[in-house]
Amino acid sequence: MYEPKPFSKVLYIDLNRRTSWVEERDDLVEEWLGGIGLGIQLLKEESMTSVDPLSPENSIILAVGPFNATYPLGSKTVALFKSPLTGNLGESYAGGRSSVSIKLAGYMAIVIRGASETPIYLAIHEDRVHFRDASALWGMTSSFTVGRVIAEREPSAGYRSILRIGPAGEKLVRYASVMVESFRHFGRLGLGAVFGSKKLKAIVISGRKALKVEDKVAYKKVYDEIFEKAVRSGLMKKYHELGTTMNVLPLNELGALPTMNLKSGRFEQAENISGEEMASKVLGRRIACSGCPVACIHLAALREPYPHEPFFYKTVFISYDYELAYALGSMLGIGKREGFLKLLHFVESAGLDAISTGVCFAWATEALEKGLISERETLLRLKWGDYESYIKAVKMIVEQPNEFYKELALGVRNASKHFGGEEFALSFGGNEMPGYHTGPAAYLGFLVGGRHSHLDNAGYSLDQKIRELPPPEELVEKLIKEESWRMVLNSLVICLFARGIYDAETVSEALDPLGIPVPPEELHRLGRDIYKQRYSLKIQMGFDPTELKPPGRILEVPTPHGTLEEEYFERGLKHFSNILRDWDII
Ligand code: SF4
Repeated sequence: MYEPKPFSKVLYIDLNRRTSWVEERDDLVEEWLGGIGLGIQLLKEESMTSVDPLSPENSIILAVGPFNATYPLGSKTVALFKSPLTGNLGESYAGGRSSVSIKLAGYMAIVIRGASETPIYLAIHEDRVHFRDASALWGMTSSFTVGRVIAEREPSAGYRSILRIGPAGEKLVRYASVMVESFRHFGRLGLGAVFGSKKLKAIVISGRKALKVEDKVAYKKVYDEIFEKAVRSGLMKKYHELGTTMNVLPLNELGALPTMNLKSGRFEQAENISGEEMASKVLGRRIACSGCPVACIHLAALREPYPHEPFFYKTVFISYDYELAYALGSMLGIGKREGFLKLLHFVESAGLDAISTGVCFAWATEALEKGLISERETLLRLKWGDYESYIKAVKMIVEQPNEFYKELALGVRNASKHFGGEEFALSFGGNEMPGYHTGPAAYLGFLVGGRHSHLDNAGYSLDQKIRELPPPEELVEKLIKEESWRMVLNSLVICLFARGIYDAETVSEALDPLGIPVPPEELHRLGRDIYKQRYSLKIQMGFDPTELKPPGRILEVPTPHGTLEEEYFERGLKHFSNILRDWDII
């Protein structure tokens, strides 16, 4: 029988008292695998349904699963917390070295409670937990620099992961991110602000422990099969070659690339920020998360002369992908490649979530055009395509020099409630919209998804498969089914780009040599159970599914499935609420 020890260990850290301890949680790991399954149970134990997201009572859970440091693309960590952006369940995923470092440090999860009075960072080197002074790091303008300083100070290079916030997290911008290594992020739903509220500047974690495999021969066989699929079949090739920016041109062709605050689904300059053009003009190199043979992370090399020294250059590497090309490219009318990259670099340095930032700026630009606000509020002229004005606006979001930027730092839903323009504020459940104007499945998916993200249930992909629009009830059921299966993948915790490799049979075969026998049908049941538990917690934390409503703008601009009808969404959302009622969740 598989003995999960020591990989059922949960490390508890109390920032108030600067103490830490470890608990064995075989009970939870055996029942819920790890990742989101385990994390939801740990979050429930924190009893924080009614706490203020920026108070010390908001605990942070970082959880990994049985496939991390074990199988190809088992490379993600899930973070759970109460979101300061939506006011309910916060759930965010990041790769880099985070999951491998946590697992090889000996932990399946880390629970961080309380808050420090002065800036600190946590250094977790296997069994040792240090609370280090971070006063000198607090206030640094770039999250890249914070990582470099910590890398100099801490041991275990090559075995460690460095998570840190930028100034946006310190200033509690509700969509501040946590940077992992230099090119991955816990981007969505404001984990950076929760770090900031705890005066937690960073976490460095390292480990070199060995993992136990129950049946080595069977393990090697399954490992090799998965590895072969990852590197030799066509399933993952596209991610390596052009990365997700390969979607820019096809989506633009379909009229599904949100442009200038979704006033249109087509962007005239889409080609400039497409995967093909980026690869041929600025791609510097590709890198990978630990444990991933695919290497989908595309880094652009941006070469800039030093001011007053025209023959001396500095080169910065900037990670780009589809969501970024949408949010800081087409959505703001920025087709100048270098301008898009410069803006992206500023957003990353500040430690902001790029999607939320782009959507907030797009709303502000249109609100300014329509006269709902003036330059008295924005303090500068926001204009489609003018990346320099958006770079200045990044600084304003962080510094929040007036009422307008204070409101914008709370998210687009909040700013539009305050200044008007709610009909063109692209918010779903309080989270800013991902880049898919593909049709009703994408939008229903953003609305009903647990974190209002395109990765919850991939409605955008469903839109591209359906020819005739099914009844909305059928679409909602398909979205729930997909999201339930993703609960299994997010418990393992694999990169969702590998979802085509890890079907139920493969997952079951891969769990077996680890001594975790779970038949495929049982995995589906587990996924549904986690889905219900997670949604139930989301509602207890303050979410009301009966209040969901699509923003007016998405009903104005034709999608590849034509112009969408409000009534279609009303029916779909009603059906969703009925399902939750049948499950006694509401
Ligand atoms: S496919 Fe990309 S995001 Fe996924 S694990 Fe590999 S490098 Fe990381």
